[in-house]
Amino acid sequence: MKKQFAVIGLGNFGYYLATGLFQKGHEVIGIDINPRQVQEIRDKVSRAVIADATDPQALRELELEKMDAVVIGIGSVLNSSILATLNVKDMGVKRIVGKAVSEAHGRILRKIGADDIYFPEKDLALTAAQRLDNPNVLDYLPFLEGYSIVQLAPPATFIGKNLIELDLINRFGIQVIAIQELVPENVVMIPTGRFVIKDSDVLVLLGPDQALAGLREKSS
Ligand code: ADP
Repeated sequence: MKKQFAVIGLGNFGYYLATGLFQKGHEVIGIDINPRQVQEIRDKVSRAVIADATDPQALRELELEKMDAVVIGIGSVLNSSILATLNVKDMGVKRIVGKAVSEAHGRILRKIGADDIYFPEKDLALTAAQRLDNPNVLDYLPFLEGYSIVQLAPPATFIGKNLIELDLINRFGIQVIAIQELVPENVVMIPTGRFVIKDSDVLVLLGPDQALAGLREKSS
């Protein structure tokens, strides 16, 4: 469903977030104090506006309270990040997403009303560490105690076999919940036993941590 977003501060984080949301079909207003940033994004979002987010008056006419979420992408100037967050909070914005450069910054934003905080450098570093640690585990989501959902490149022995032949459920207690096909791009949710695994597929698996770790070894 099409949603409405505003992104304030179109630095690296704000730029990619705003253009990414627009590419996914949402309505996006990009806002920055710097005319150059606004000019650069103009053709890649629904609307681009020059405004100082520390000035409540400048924000008022943008009707941010009607948005599904407002993202404050200002990070490095702490003062501006805080004032912008306060201003959108005062306007009654439904969901405020902040960007923090430090834990203390994150705590302040949360105290003054941000609903979600991103730590782009930290988040990216942790993802990078995980990928370097095991290049075949593309993503990892802890589930119930002792269980996880992982995205895994298929081990070589899986290629060309179907899910009945692999029988992961009886051999390891692992359920294949989805398969991401890369060529052409497609997601098969809850694949049937007849699905034949290709080299380019990514498996999304739910199962006990130990069994998943075993598969991971095989796939590396
Ligand atoms: P990044 O590290 O993602 O590039 P920055 O914090 O360096 O993030 O970028 C901040 C962006 O926010 C810049 O484009 C800057 O012009 C913009 N910005 C800074 N202060 C304000 C403000 N008061 N109102 C609107 N935009 C602002």
